[in-house]
Amino acid sequence: PGSGSDLASVKTRAVRQGDKYIVNGQKTWTTLGQYGDWIFCLVRTSTEGKPQTGISFLLIDMKSPGITVRPIITLDGEHEVNEVFFDNVEVPAENLVGEENKGWTYAKYLLAHERTNIADVNRAKRELERLKRIAKAEGVYEDTRFRDQIALLEVDIVALEMMVLRVLSAETSGKNSLDVAGLLKIRGSEIQQRYTELMMLAAGPYARPYVHEAMEAGWQGDHVGAAYLAPLAGTYFNMRKTTIYGGSNEVQRNIVAQTVLGS
Ligand SMILES: Cc1cc2nc3c(=O)[nH]c(=O)nc-3n(C[C@H](O)[C@H](O)[C@H](O)COP(=O)(O)OP(=O)(O)OC[C@H]3O[C@@H](n4cnc5c(N)ncnc54)[C@H](O)[C@@H]3O)c2cc1C
Repeated sequence: PGSGSDLASVKTRAVRQGDKYIVNGQKTWTTLGQYGDWIFCLVRTSTEGKPQTGISFLLIDMKSPGITVRPIITLDGEHEVNEVFFDNVEVPAENLVGEENKGWTYAKYLLAHERTNIADVNRAKRELERLKRIAKAEGVYEDTRFRDQIALLEVDIVALEMMVLRVLSAETSGKNSLDVAGLLKIRGSEIQQRYTELMMLAAGPYARPYVHEAMEAGWQGDHVGAAYLAPLAGTYFNMRKTTIYGGSNEVQRNIVAQTVLGS
């Protein structure tokens, strides 16, 4: 807690004792942590010098004594995120990734991949087709103003796909293109929010009832409005997170300004 955007201020500590580390602290917002067998943690191993230089990257078995996972139930009733507490957790020193106090460098590399992944073009393409199906079924596809919104979204999804492909092809040819990962994250998350908003608009009052079970994979119920519209409210709320997690979009803009635009 308190080290979201300001990740370098991370306070969870790992103290080396012989062939193990003793970890004490807390991690908040761990997505699907209730299912995890392992967790990778950025832990403070030194308070010398710049905050970034005293961080290490540790792999921890979630079954270790001293670990508690506490659910955070979000406004939509979902159990997706958790708090994880570490109370004198013993971790074998061999679980250190790379060198001690170099965790910040490894984390930045990993986060760039996470942000590229968050762009989630495949899902955007699938949801675009679903949006069109809903708009047609609900009669708003014929409304040119509404269709303009869909067209704009489609253009932006195609542009995002091209950008992701550029990053991937640069990666395979050995060029470091991960600096633009923040841009992919910003654009991808905004697109995710746009398609959920347009689906809500297309469905009108049928999108309003919130059916919790409808969020489960394979849900077949039909007791509210048109069955296929029931998960829309839940999905709309759930997607509010996308501009926050993986590093907030405001902070991504700062990073892009510094690393890509050089300001
Ligand atoms: C649903 C959800 C799931 C998550 N899952 C995970 C997970 O699985 N693993 C994990 O490690 N983390 C996860 N996170 C944490 C996420 O990365 C942080 O919430 C995020 O980085 C923001 O940090 P914060 O919550 O501490 O907010 P803060 O850093 O306190 O930010 C609050 C606000 O201030 C703005 N802000 C802060 N600093 C600046 C700045 N320098 N310039 C401009 N604006 C600024 C932010 O944009 C934000 O709007 C998750 C978060 C959510 C909400």
